Amino acid sequence: MLRKKLPFLHSLLSPVSRHVGHLTGHQYDVIVVGGGHAGTEAAAAAARVGAETLLITQKIHTIGALSCNPSLGGVGKGQLVKEVDALDGLCGRAGDWAGIHFSILNRRKGPAVWGPRAQLDRQRYRDFIQSELLSTPRLTMVEGSVEELLVTEPNPEEPGHHRVTGIRLANGSHAISARSVVLTTGTFLSGSLFVGQTTSPGGRIGDAPSSAGLSHTLRERLGLRTGRLRTGTPPRIVKDSVDLSLAKLHLPDSHPTPFSFLNTHTHCKPEEQLPCYLTFTTPGVERVVRESLQLNCHIQQDTKGPRYCPSIESRVLRFPGRSHQVWLEPEGVTSDLLYPQGLSMTMPPDIQLRLIREIPPMRRAEIHTPGYGVQYDFVCPTQLSPALQVKSTQGLFLAGQINGTTGYEEAAAQGLWAGANAARSALSMPTVTLSRTESYIGVLIDDLVSRGVTEPYRMFTSRAEFRTSLRPDNADLRLTPKGFEEVGCVSSVRYQESLRVRNSLQDALTALQALFLSTSSWKKKLPSVPISETKSTLLTSSSPFVFYGIQIERIQREENMSLPQDIDYFSLPVSLSDEVREILDRVRPSTLGAATRLEGITPAAVVNLLNYVRVTE
Ligand code: FAD
Repeated sequence: MLRKKLPFLHSLLSPVSRHVGHLTGHQYDVIVVGGGHAGTEAAAAAARVGAETLLITQKIHTIGALSCNPSLGGVGKGQLVKEVDALDGLCGRAGDWAGIHFSILNRRKGPAVWGPRAQLDRQRYRDFIQSELLSTPRLTMVEGSVEELLVTEPNPEEPGHHRVTGIRLANGSHAISARSVVLTTGTFLSGSLFVGQTTSPGGRIGDAPSSAGLSHTLRERLGLRTGRLRTGTPPRIVKDSVDLSLAKLHLPDSHPTPFSFLNTHTHCKPEEQLPCYLTFTTPGVERVVRESLQLNCHIQQDTKGPRYCPSIESRVLRFPGRSHQVWLEPEGVTSDLLYPQGLSMTMPPDIQLRLIREIPPMRRAEIHTPGYGVQYDFVCPTQLSPALQVKSTQGLFLAGQINGTTGYEEAAAQGLWAGANAARSALSMPTVTLSRTESYIGVLIDDLVSRGVTEPYRMFTSRAEFRTSLRPDNADLRLTPKGFEEVGCVSSVRYQESLRVRNSLQDALTALQALFLSTSSWKKKLPSVPISETKSTLLTSSSPFVFYGIQIERIQREENMSLPQDIDYFSLPVSLSDEVREILDRVRPSTLGAATRLEGITPAAVVNLLNYVRVTE
């Protein structure tokens, strides 16, 4: 299924326009604002569902750009990529095209927590995404900056409720109508860039922020609550100036595993993959950070940054005296640059140079582009429905970093779901939801809309209560049929392929079941193993899967079951830990589904609760 070659953007200009005048007065089903990871998946998904879709983004050539690390997947994030692929999204296939170093993280642990990951060639990734969008039917792309959302006045019978009717481009020039709008403006909403003591408006280096008009519509006109978050990126290092012999070589997997269920191999041949290198910070790094703190505006601010992808300043200040890992990763096949993962920093450029030269392989290193920080507005996601629609504004959907998440994979997953729902809403079909029990995308969206965020949200396997059954390898079996039959975002080619896989699995299981032997026959085959031991081994190895499968099915069936509000959780005669009893007593969830979503409530606790309520009904 991998393509042989990609068409170039300039050779396929017809669906792309730099002049938007002719679109004025045109009515689209869906307008997607932003061409990042959320926006590209949203636009493609909306078009696949059947909506006439317009993607508007500030710069056509940055569509699909990787703003920070050129990598895709990882633990928890890899599961999201597989699920986006199972729903016919782009990022998995783009990863297979652009990957230059593939590895499965956590290989020594169980398959449920394996993390498919690849280092990418930036240019190839962008080319693939652009080429896919160009060949997507019903999708048009234009270059422009959206200044304002057009919305109706609130309905007098439903105060505070609006309906989106389109967008207006910068300078008040062109208005374009749509039944649904998906906003995916990433780090650009009221974005400010930070290097040393200098602050300037920007959404990303080289790109202007979203205009103040957009924030104004969201806050003042629609009354949405917003917050402020921050993130940062490391300096890019000139590869030839680094002595890689002083770092530890890290080879990729000898057989790259593709992300996409449609691919049997990756574009990069096994022997063409590039290595990464591991090195460590020294006490000199900590000294430079401490000496330059007063010259570093970004680090002095209270705004919350990504806890699990922190800057070197935060790492050193939180864990003084330690040596921290730094991965030196290639930026692409023909790129002369290295990406030093773990060295995100925002001090003045001359101090950045001093800092990296404290690390042995980089004693003589040169910086190509200094690191910088960005601070931006996000919309508190508890104001969204599970379809990612703003509850108070019919037809307005939000996805990606604008919802307080961080990472390409989190953005892509939300983008696909918001785009599919925006299309369904525009085409007068009911919106659809994904539950926590069937997907990591369901976990992500449920966490956002029911708990909100206080710091940039990223996915981990530990967030998924049912991770044993939400494995990367079965994402297609879990989601492709739903994507085809209920959502409409999966092509018939992919659906047929998933049916073929499901049928072969079923055939294999039937064949295994047919291998039934009597106890005496087993005894003849396994003379040295007592039969009782064989039986218990078989039961133990199969039971977790079967047990979880049964649990999930029951909980899904009983999601809406009411929990009595006068229940005394502390004296309940069932097996629940003190912590679980305390949480249930404090929150008093109204349904079993609400109980499953509480932080700290285990699947086993929910099953015990379910059994108790069923018996006492
Ligand atoms: P983006 O990829 O940012 O795309 C937004 C798009 O919207 C852009 O194409 C922009 O041009 C367009 N746009 C914005 N406003 C308008 C408008 N008004 N009109 C038209 N188009 C508009 N992630 C991590 O996981 N770890 C990290 O360490 C990390 N560090 C980062 C550091 C920096 C400096 C930056 C900028 C990002 C970093 N990220 C990091 C985040 C990662 O890039 C994002 O999570 C991901 O790109 C979000 O995808 P998105 O689609 O929501 O937004």
